[in-house]
Amino acid sequence: MGTPLETRREQTVEVVDRLEAEYPDSTISLRYANRLELLIAVILSAQCTDQRVNEETKHLFETYDGAEDYANADQDELAEDLNSITYYNNKAKYIRSACETILEDHDGEVPDTMDELTELSGVGRKTANVVLQHGHDIVEGIVVDTHVQRLSRRLGLTEEEYPERIEQDLIEIVPEDDWQQFTHLCIDHGRAVCTAQNPDCADCVLADICPSEKGDVEIDLASGDAW
Ligand code: SF4
Repeated sequence: MGTPLETRREQTVEVVDRLEAEYPDSTISLRYANRLELLIAVILSAQCTDQRVNEETKHLFETYDGAEDYANADQDELAEDLNSITYYNNKAKYIRSACETILEDHDGEVPDTMDELTELSGVGRKTANVVLQHGHDIVEGIVVDTHVQRLSRRLGLTEEEYPERIEQDLIEIVPEDDWQQFTHLCIDHGRAVCTAQNPDCADCVLADICPSEKGDVEIDLASGDAW
């Protein structure tokens, strides 16, 4: 078992420092050319891999150009264009509805406030945070996806279970300049080493400070279950 640093803030700063050294080019992996494409890619990425979304959006972004195209699209046709994505029927509805709102209430532009974004169909706080950060350069929170959720708990940064509560804990301890990068670092480490099912603790740069390290600890703090 690793020994976490004395305070959660010290632990967090150390985690960020080490992961930055490990993943110096860490950034968003969704592909997009403008804010609307970003919004659509993030809506599609819920419970779906970024790789799959990038495959699907290659042709989607060539077929549809702007909010009007999506808002006026036939539901079945749009769903068919997304059919390799999880929950593609619902996501097609969200995209059409969000684009209608963008046209009617925002002159065709993706809004730049948390309140306006979360009023769009299919857009929760996580999606809104990604769009604010990468579409508008506004960082007002921390994106908590499944990797951030799992790593934050494993590393002893939070005991909360739900993303919005985890975000509130993280906002207290992650230096504000690192709010955006913290997510990307957790995602990279979560994909490469600290995977959900079988993390490679033996080859982890955080092993000596991680209270979930498998060497001689029996519990995965992310799930509360035995390793
Ligand atoms: S891979 Fe193991 S040691 Fe590294 S952060 Fe995950 S649980 Fe901790």
